[in-house]
Amino acid sequence: MSVFEKIVAKEIPSYIVYEDNLVMAFLDIMQSTKGHTLVIPKKKYENIFEIPEELLKHLIAVTKMLAEKIKIAFNADGINLLNNNGKAAGQTVFHYHFHIIPRYENDNFKVSFENNADKLTKADYEMRLNTIKKHLWNKLL
Ligand code: 5GP
Repeated sequence: MSVFEKIVAKEIPSYIVYEDNLVMAFLDIMQSTKGHTLVIPKKKYENIFEIPEELLKHLIAVTKMLAEKIKIAFNADGINLLNNNGKAAGQTVFHYHFHIIPRYENDNFKVSFENNADKLTKADYEMRLNTIKKHLWNKLL
C-alpha cells in the first residue's frame, strides 16, 4: 500500500482539505510554502501515463478550484502546479498527485529552467520537432 493509499484509508492521519468519491486533497507534510497542498485520485495510479483521462479531468477541475481558493485564503501572489512523473523527474511517492504550491514574493522556493537556447541551431529544433511529430502521427493514424 502506498503512503497515499494509507492516507485515503485514514490509516495514517492527514490534514484533509477536500474529499469527494474520486479524489482527495490534503496538506503536504513538507509545506514547502504556506498552504502547499496535494491533490490525488483515491484509487492508486502511478503516474500520468496510467491515470484514466476522465478521472484526470475531474482531478484537474478540483485542482483548479482548490488553487483559486487557496490563493485567496493565503493572499498568495501566485501558484505553481507541479506534477512529477518518474524517479528521474523527482517523483518520490508513486501514486499520482498534483502539488498546489502557493507562491509569495521573495519566498525562496525555486523552480528553475535551464536555458539552452544559445547552444542550439535551427536544425536542432527541427530535429526535436520532427521526433515528436513522428510519434503524434503514429498515434493519429
Ligand atoms: P513527489 O516528490 O512524489 O512529487 O511528492 C511527494 C510529496 O508527498 C512530497 O512533497 C512529500 O512531502 C509528500 N509526503 C510524503 N509522505 C507524506 C505523508 O505521509 N503525509 C503527507 N501529508 N505528505 C507526504
